[in-house]
Amino acid sequence: MLFGRTSKNPIKIADKAVVEWKYATCGYCSTGCSIEVGLNNAGKAVSSRGVADADVNRGKLCLKGIFEHELFDSAGRGKVPKYRKHWHDEWKTSDWDSTLDTTHDEIRRIQQTYGRDAFAIISTGQLLTEEFYTLGKLTRGLIGTNNYDGNTTLCMASAVSGYKRSFGSDGPPGCYEDFEHTDCLIAWGSNLPEQHPIIYWRMKEAQEKRGFPLIVVDPRVTMLAQFADIHLPITPGTDVVLQNSMMYVILDEGLQDTRYIEANTNGLEELRAEVSHYDPTTAAKICGIDEDTIRSVARLYANAEAAMQIWTMGINQSTHGSDGVVGINNLSLLCGNIGKPGGTSLSITGQCNAMGTREWSSCSGLPNYRQLENAQDRKDISEFWNIDEDFLPQKRGMFQTDIYHAIEAGLIKGLWLIATNPLSSLPNSERVRRAMQKLEFCVVQDCYEDTESAQYANVFLPAGTWAEKEGVMTNTERRINLINPIATPPGDAKADLWVFNQMAKRFNTDGKVSFPDKAADIFLEMASISKGRLADISGMSHALLEQHRGIQWPYTEQQLNDKQPPPQGGKRLYTEDGTFRYADGRAKLIPLPFIDNNEVPDEKFPIWLNTGRLIEHWHGRTKTGKIGNNNKYSPIPFVEINPDLAAELGIQRGEYIRLVSRRSDAVVMATPTHRVPKNMVFLPFHFHDCANRLTLGLLDPHSRQPAFKQSAIRIESLADQKAAARLSMEMRSF
Ligand code: SF4
Repeated sequence: MLFGRTSKNPIKIADKAVVEWKYATCGYCSTGCSIEVGLNNAGKAVSSRGVADADVNRGKLCLKGIFEHELFDSAGRGKVPKYRKHWHDEWKTSDWDSTLDTTHDEIRRIQQTYGRDAFAIISTGQLLTEEFYTLGKLTRGLIGTNNYDGNTTLCMASAVSGYKRSFGSDGPPGCYEDFEHTDCLIAWGSNLPEQHPIIYWRMKEAQEKRGFPLIVVDPRVTMLAQFADIHLPITPGTDVVLQNSMMYVILDEGLQDTRYIEANTNGLEELRAEVSHYDPTTAAKICGIDEDTIRSVARLYANAEAAMQIWTMGINQSTHGSDGVVGINNLSLLCGNIGKPGGTSLSITGQCNAMGTREWSSCSGLPNYRQLENAQDRKDISEFWNIDEDFLPQKRGMFQTDIYHAIEAGLIKGLWLIATNPLSSLPNSERVRRAMQKLEFCVVQDCYEDTESAQYANVFLPAGTWAEKEGVMTNTERRINLINPIATPPGDAKADLWVFNQMAKRFNTDGKVSFPDKAADIFLEMASISKGRLADISGMSHALLEQHRGIQWPYTEQQLNDKQPPPQGGKRLYTEDGTFRYADGRAKLIPLPFIDNNEVPDEKFPIWLNTGRLIEHWHGRTKTGKIGNNNKYSPIPFVEINPDLAAELGIQRGEYIRLVSRRSDAVVMATPTHRVPKNMVFLPFHFHDCANRLTLGLLDPHSRQPAFKQSAIRIESLADQKAAARLSMEMRSF
């Protein structure tokens, strides 16, 4: 194809000779873009494009999605099962049967020797939902460990906890269409253009049409903050103070929606008593936002006909993460901004299927938001799965962030990691490394064999990735969408579902529990136990999902039978008065006292360390680091530093510097920019052995999510730049 100049040196795009396009859903972020992968006549995936009639992305894809087909052939893919007795031995290739037998035997040995919960399982937000459901059935119903969690604890746990505390259940109430109805948008710690580019495009298009004010709360001048009408560069970790102060103004000036509050909530007087301590003059000294701005933003929000709040990791990854979510919900409830077009409290989730794991993995409970703590839920699921009710624990076990401390303490002896890489993604990585070295037995199941965590494995199980498998995922707005198998896993690698079913055969010795092989059948099983619940998917099937380019839950059998088209399914939750999930149908207004419990800069470590994502990379770069068109934009670890601070320290652009925290150090290239204030640096977390060497990761008391974004460091110059460059290069390697 030629375009631009056609007579002299025209720009050429190679004809990929696509003969067939196959439908899937993007496997990176939670936006949930519908994607088609082009196959040439040899059946090789050679191109990706957005699906024009998909409501989410309307034909668009971002930098990651557009090259997603290159994943299938990327370097480092695991192709054969491997085994070794000790983690420091050489790997030996193996076969599936003996490797799975060994895995089964070791799990049972550890459980019989040290107790059922001495073996832990940690999964991900990357699996397909049918795989999550099957893994949950295997773990809860047959293996029987209660120390089972997902790496979503690192990203969405605070949102889950906050929704449960406010509304009585997890489940984001809003949808992307709300951008098209809102009169005011507050984004808390969310840099949409880089992290969720297609949601950003939806928001920006709506804003250009409607002209609603965009208010961005973020310590850094992010790309979204650059486009904001009002930017609030808040002191890290003090969002709750700002929220309380906004509520002080709203209640003091009588701007609340009294009718809505009286009809739908409990707790107003307790909330009023708490926020009375947060007048804007006092709050400004803590959160760093001046008094006038607090008042203006509170009035702008409360006076809007419909106002919307979104947030991402800037809220969740904090010692006040869960409280920050409750604070957002409090503001929404005070002003009647739940369940109406343009009025919502919408967590923008992280991984492609973070929602699927919340709904169906049984990590924190039982399928479809059922709770281990609820006797009826335990009874229902044990009957359905045909297991002994007493086999289920009566409350959830450890969160991922506590599991490593339990390994350190010798309480957990074995670990099965599924599509997750804690050595890259957990804070204080040296502590995690020491913990992993203490394990008696570790299984890593992953599509890549070269992850940092695989260094400490005894067994490696090679898995398929993304569209090498069939199943569904749920996006940020509760839209379930389909992935078709487009390629086959390389070598002897297998789909994760196959691995779970093979493992189930080894534990399911009397054959009591059913484990269907096909994702479509598993989906129907899930649909059947969703009937009448908040996340009712009983009207959905794989075929219907592809036909409608995804359907938001709830979409019930009744709606299907009544021939209501799926878009009328679940655009919004809690649309009528009295529909919250507490027994009385009311939401809770919850007082949020602020206790400053972060690590903060001091004389020895005077600089805030802020961490986050770049548009071109995904998490630990296990995938995007191997795709040239993604990696070339950010091939080496760098840090954003304020030019005034750089000048004061004698640091030049492009110079390697050492960042030192109380935990460890990291060598990175200095990139001066006014995006960060003088007392802060911003470090992308994608690079191997880098950001999480430094982070402390104190945990939120409700969600156990780490405060990745609030640590303190100092900066040191490096005389030997060549040696520093070599060290930095090692950090980019896998
Ligand atoms: Fe994929 Fe997210 Fe990009 Fe959409 S915005 S193409 S879901 S990475």
